[in-house]
Amino acid sequence: MADFFQTKIEFLKGIGPQKAQLINKELSIFTYADLIQHFPFRYEDRSRFYNINELNENSPAVQIKGKINHYHMAGSQGAKRLVASFSDHSGEVELVWFKGIKWVEKKLIPGVEYVVFGKPTVFGSKLNMAHPEIDRAELSTTNGAALVPVYSTTENLKRNFFDSKGIGKVVHHLLTIGLPNIQENMPAFLIEKFRLVNKAFALFHIHFPKNEEFLRQARRRLKFEELFYIQLKLLSQKQVSKTKFKGHIFNTIPSVNNFYKTHLPFELTDAQKRVIKEIYADLVSGTQMNRLLQGDVGSGKTIVSFIVMLMAYDNQAQSCLMAPTEILAEQHYQNLKKHSDKLGITIDLLTGSTKQSIRKKMMERLASGELHIVVGTHALLEDKVQFKNLGICVIDEQHRFGVAQRAKLWDKNKDHPPHILVMTATPIPRTLAMTLYGDLDISVIDELPKGRKPIKTMHKFDAHRLAVFGFIRQQIEEGRQVYIVYPLIEESEKLDYKDLMDGYESIARAFPEYQISIVHGKMKSKDKEFEMQRFKKGETKIMVSTTVIEVGVDVPNASVMVIENAEKFGLSQLHQLRGRVGRGADQSYCILMTGYKLGKEAKARIGTMVRTNNGFEIAEEDLKLRGPGDMGGTQQSGILDLKVSDLAKDQAILLAARETAMEILEKDPTFSLPQHEVIKKHIEKARKDAVIWAMIS
Ligand code: ADP
Ligand code: MG
Repeated sequence: MADFFQTKIEFLKGIGPQKAQLINKELSIFTYADLIQHFPFRYEDRSRFYNINELNENSPAVQIKGKINHYHMAGSQGAKRLVASFSDHSGEVELVWFKGIKWVEKKLIPGVEYVVFGKPTVFGSKLNMAHPEIDRAELSTTNGAALVPVYSTTENLKRNFFDSKGIGKVVHHLLTIGLPNIQENMPAFLIEKFRLVNKAFALFHIHFPKNEEFLRQARRRLKFEELFYIQLKLLSQKQVSKTKFKGHIFNTIPSVNNFYKTHLPFELTDAQKRVIKEIYADLVSGTQMNRLLQGDVGSGKTIVSFIVMLMAYDNQAQSCLMAPTEILAEQHYQNLKKHSDKLGITIDLLTGSTKQSIRKKMMERLASGELHIVVGTHALLEDKVQFKNLGICVIDEQHRFGVAQRAKLWDKNKDHPPHILVMTATPIPRTLAMTLYGDLDISVIDELPKGRKPIKTMHKFDAHRLAVFGFIRQQIEEGRQVYIVYPLIEESEKLDYKDLMDGYESIARAFPEYQISIVHGKMKSKDKEFEMQRFKKGETKIMVSTTVIEVGVDVPNASVMVIENAEKFGLSQLHQLRGRVGRGADQSYCILMTGYKLGKEAKARIGTMVRTNNGFEIAEEDLKLRGPGDMGGTQQSGILDLKVSDLAKDQAILLAARETAMEILEKDPTFSLPQHEVIKKHIEKARKDAVIWAMIS
């Protein structure tokens, strides 16, 4: 039997092929299953009718029932409004329309009973509602639900009668005809253990909740299910790669010892030593490593990655290090080259701008094994890049790479997949890490190198710019360097670009005695690199830039980070930017510039930055303020596709779901016990749907 919920939505009553096409495009809803998972994002309370005399301007949007007494046009030409007096047995309210007046006017018949829904306000001393919904009482349907679902939709769909109400209608119809086809996909013993409602009940009541309690139950059930299956998938992937994929064994490490004794430029922190041990244990275990290395900005991940690559070198294996941008790749290359030259290890750089002739030779040297380490960007993923024996891949700043890209790297060694070390400076709260990287083991560098002074962070208003410039001058006179960063938001790139150029000019005017660098995304990477190098060498004292310097750039002598329009940045971005300073032994400063007018959330973000330097604390705060949707760009990479769960709020459910998934996998990894049959069926079906889906799109 074909799966009912895989039916295309065009076959649903009230949709049809044309509308379906539009819905496919605008909302990415293709099948019945997609439609049913288009959950409301909020609900309107229609559980009761309010009495008009109960209303005041603090009331939420409410539902009232009563009659039109009379109506009239008010206002002058061009600013006309339709005003209707509406009353029930308890009082009177004015209903006001500024738009669509003709259409509304036709509907209004004095003396007939109406149901009106809207947000009361007080104007002058009169109670009124602007643009309420109004329906004849006998026609008013709320699909039998007390809480009416509100769905996200688009302007275009609204014009085509697929507004929130329209969506509600088709979903209600779908639920009615589809009810017998809804299959329970959680095992009975879990439903009982966690007192979950069944699937059909949950689906119905998340769309059309009878009351608050039913809604809560529906949500809890669907969240648990969602998080449970994600965890099951991630954890079983981990299990599979642990048991199935043999790893290179790197058990002799003479160069590592040599490096430690003679070339290490500083003493490693205890945290660095610990994570190196954790990694080494993986590398001699015989199974493939998939490990996430988390460490706040400046915690010293690069040297750790180099030592890990040395372990590969000592065992006749090659390594690659992949960075998200050319600037970063170049910088890693320069840093690692300093070390590798001393040890006689060959290293090269491969990016999108590497010339064809050079590239060709590099490919040969990689294939013959002559080249030991290659540093690069996405260019490394190309099929042409083939190694003699790739042993380790290091991926820096993971959040820009997705799971699929990791898998591509796996294929670069046909005998057995290379060990993978993913490094990220984005501190990820525990719950989020579990969900995003549940298939990876995690190591954390939770300590900064000794002698670092905590960065002092200040908030200054634009009006105090002169004082800030004075401070900058003083720092430069003491031999330091300064970053000044402007936000660049793609939508209004032109405008922001102008901001940047204006800023650059005013800074050049204020500091005629110093050379100033400027770097932004529109420059050729060669020119960017040239400016970066000038700054690095200390030839320029101030670096004016957009967020291209956000990740990884390392200039220890820079001690001041000025962030313009700081209110436009997210917390994690601010923290990343701040991490560019505080790398040397000098006291460093971060100055957040804003105007006087600040929104509530912007104030909260800036307050957090001033209060703490702790990346994890900031990440938790960020999760609370923003929700996990855009944490560290996870959304673009498509890893996080949660329909009901909210990682900021649902930590308890996540933990329970993860623990349950672990217990089941331990006891019955193939789901062959009778009580796990439902799980097996669900996973098989999900896999099959995904395959069909891949064929269609
Ligand atoms: P991140 O973790 O942000 O990538 P880096 O690896 O760029 O940090 O290191 C930041 C700076 O700290 C570099 O200049 C590096 O040489 C230095 N560093 C790393 N480890 C130590 C250490 N144990 N002691 C002193 N300095 C260190
Ligand atoms: Mg780094």
